[in-house]
Amino acid sequence: MTTRLWGEALRRFGRHGSVVLCYHGVAAPAADVDPGSLRVSPDSFRAQVELLLEAGFEFLTVAEFVRRARGGTPPPGLAALSFDDGMDDNHSVVLPILRDYGIPATVYVITGLIGMPNPWLSPGAHSRMMTVEELRELAAAGVELGAHSVTHPDFSQLDRETSLREMVESRDTLERLTGAAVTTFAYPFCKYNAASAAAAREAGFDAAVTCWERGSWDPYELKRPLITGRDGIPSFVLKIVGVYLPLFDNRGARIARAATHGLRRKLRRGSE
Ligand SMILES: [Zn+2]
Repeated sequence: MTTRLWGEALRRFGRHGSVVLCYHGVAAPAADVDPGSLRVSPDSFRAQVELLLEAGFEFLTVAEFVRRARGGTPPPGLAALSFDDGMDDNHSVVLPILRDYGIPATVYVITGLIGMPNPWLSPGAHSRMMTVEELRELAAAGVELGAHSVTHPDFSQLDRETSLREMVESRDTLERLTGAAVTTFAYPFCKYNAASAAAAREAGFDAAVTCWERGSWDPYELKRPLITGRDGIPSFVLKIVGVYLPLFDNRGARIARAATHGLRRKLRRGSE
């Protein structure tokens, strides 16, 4: 399939579906310092944004996405870009690209790591987490800053009280730094349990996001396909379209049936 056809698949999806994407960073690929491919190359990121723009998606922050979804399935054609952890390339690389296209995004910040070395990349990457000044610049540019805890714990192992403390403290710190309201939260490692979802609600967040295969359109376990440096256009599109199909059971099953029609006939004939 050519890029044009993948774009068409995305356009069709956009007539019915919407998506919140989870990224970490955007930087030149370097497997030696980024073994998990957390960072997407600038060229790939631009190609992904352009594909979504050409497919007619409207870009918005996660906070706005959640407002438009009103606690349930969002209206079609919406795309929210989000970046977890607060790595320095979100300021040096992502912000200029967002400005180029005139689109917003959301960055989830670990407040206990502000200005510290980046613990997810090897020291050779010379990567650190954003400083207070950089975070303020993002906020001033219209980027939504969301909370991502103080210490990046696994919330699926925490009780409600500890979850609440991590959430409230990180939210209050960010609000103090930028003066902007912080209304959404991202679970570290995308892991959560009933206690963390309850804590996010109690803390006063409008939504809490997860990622990978987890989550739903429930605002306190909002799903996000995870995009890494290993994704080409095909897997990028499939990750977006793939999270959509299971939600529309009848339609998804119909598409699956149509796609496998010939194969199933062959199999039936073979068994006769
Ligand atoms: Zn994280």
